[in-house]
Amino acid sequence: MSGKSLLKIDLRGLILLLAAATALITLGNALYSSYRVQRQQLIDNTLEANRIYAAKLAASTDQFLHSAQQQLAYSAGMMSKPDGLGRAVEEVERLKSQTDSFNSVTVADATGKVIAISPETIQIVGNTLTSVNAQRALTEQKPFISQPFVSFAGNLVVFISHPIVSDTGTYLGFIGGTIYLKQKSMLHSLLGSHFYTDSSYIYVVDENRRLLYHPDANRIGEAVGPNTVIDAVIRGESGKSQVVNTASVEMLAGYAPITSAHWGIISQQPIETSLLALNTLMLNMLKGILPVGLLGMFAIWWLARLISRPLGQLADCAKNMDSPEAQGKIREVKSWYFESTQIKRALLLGISLLQSKIGKLNKDAQTDPLTGLLNRRAMAQVLETYRSEQTAFSVVVLDIDHFKRVNDTYGHDTGDKVLVQLSKIMQKHSREADSVCRVGGEEFLILLPGTSLEAAGNFAERLRLAVEQASMALIGHITISLGVAHWPDDAKELSETLKLADDRMYQAKQLGRNRVVAHAVEGTVHSCEPQ
Ligand code: GH3
Ligand code: MG
Ligand code: MG
Repeated sequence: MSGKSLLKIDLRGLILLLAAATALITLGNALYSSYRVQRQQLIDNTLEANRIYAAKLAASTDQFLHSAQQQLAYSAGMMSKPDGLGRAVEEVERLKSQTDSFNSVTVADATGKVIAISPETIQIVGNTLTSVNAQRALTEQKPFISQPFVSFAGNLVVFISHPIVSDTGTYLGFIGGTIYLKQKSMLHSLLGSHFYTDSSYIYVVDENRRLLYHPDANRIGEAVGPNTVIDAVIRGESGKSQVVNTASVEMLAGYAPITSAHWGIISQQPIETSLLALNTLMLNMLKGILPVGLLGMFAIWWLARLISRPLGQLADCAKNMDSPEAQGKIREVKSWYFESTQIKRALLLGISLLQSKIGKLNKDAQTDPLTGLLNRRAMAQVLETYRSEQTAFSVVVLDIDHFKRVNDTYGHDTGDKVLVQLSKIMQKHSREADSVCRVGGEEFLILLPGTSLEAAGNFAERLRLAVEQASMALIGHITISLGVAHWPDDAKELSETLKLADDRMYQAKQLGRNRVVAHAVEGTVHSCEPQ
């Protein structure tokens, strides 16, 4: 059953199905490949933006640290003069208030004893510094930026140190500034001036993977596990990469080293949020495509209708080729393209062949092959029509006189020729509406619709005379005997009327042949005996 219903899909359905499938596949493919391309582009762009941002921020931080070191160097220079350390208090105050780079500034002498500090929140002036960084400053006697550490005051800081060396080259001590990592500081402001609207963020690590800066302040100071980006930035490399962060979120990261401090900056954004824009983009694209797409589908539907219509109509006609209207219907089909025109032509040709064949078969079935006159079957049909339409008619039955002799004398073929010639005479004398039939070997019957018995008698007489006078090939002359009857005047039944005409023809034979009997004749006896 399903196979049958599948076969019922018409051409229009198929064209529509094909077009819709093609359109959907093309659209799906276009959307998908556009999605892929745009996604990759968005990822590339985000990675690049993060790389540039990290590089820029690293450069700014580097510059900030460099200028902080220079400020310390300048102060160290001021204090390198004879009795320079006497200016220590003045210098720390100036540095602290003028530059805003440091959260605290300290000057220590060559033994590590604190000479000046600003702000003076902790009373350590006069104390000797024993911290790792102080020891480093004293032993290395070089500028450096420390690892992050917890200061006396309990703040996580980095320490920038610069030696104070006299004009004569004597090491006098060092000046150092601390910068808060967790609390408000210049560095914090620099790194924190970042817009987090797109959920991207930056963080800074030192060479030991400790977080120096992170938007989540609680994490600052925490050591983070290794990952490709952190490893690369610690190695001093810059670049971009797709990584998974500690919270297992896939990130698009850009990174750059802060070379002066051996730190690294990482700017990153969750891949998911960077692709959010893509969804909107795709939705807008779909919205843009949809109206034109629908218009296209409508156009296809319309075209499918136009293409399938002539074929559908021709297919309908092909189902009823034998109907009389088929030809007219096929002619009416508007075949506007090549194939439909060809099919239309073929159908018309087929139908005319069919009809001429049927016509010929009909004719063959209704006529006598020798004379071309109507046979008994055709005669029965004509009679049936008269009966159903109540058409009054006269019937003339005629038989050749002594035809046996003709056959015997001249042969059967000559006899046949006589039959053909007689048929022609009968046809010549009858009207269009009359039906001339051959009902036996040499017996004929002529139906004369709308003809009275008297008129039919006259017709029979004329015919008799014509035959008598006609010159038959080879044999000279023949005569005929005729019987005439009328329906419904002579008998109510058709068969009775025919029998009556037949009887009258035999009466004519009995009365001497070569005559017409159109009325009941007294004293004649029906006989089939040849005379
Ligand atoms: P009548 O009718 O005057 O009594 O004499 P008839 O000799 O014509 O007698 P009947 O009508 O009984 O004879 C019929 C003859 O017609 C018999 C046969 O030889 C001849 N006949 C019948 N059919 C054909 C035919 O198709 N062709 C030829 N050549 N002869 C036929
Ligand atoms: Mg006969
Ligand atoms: Mg005869």
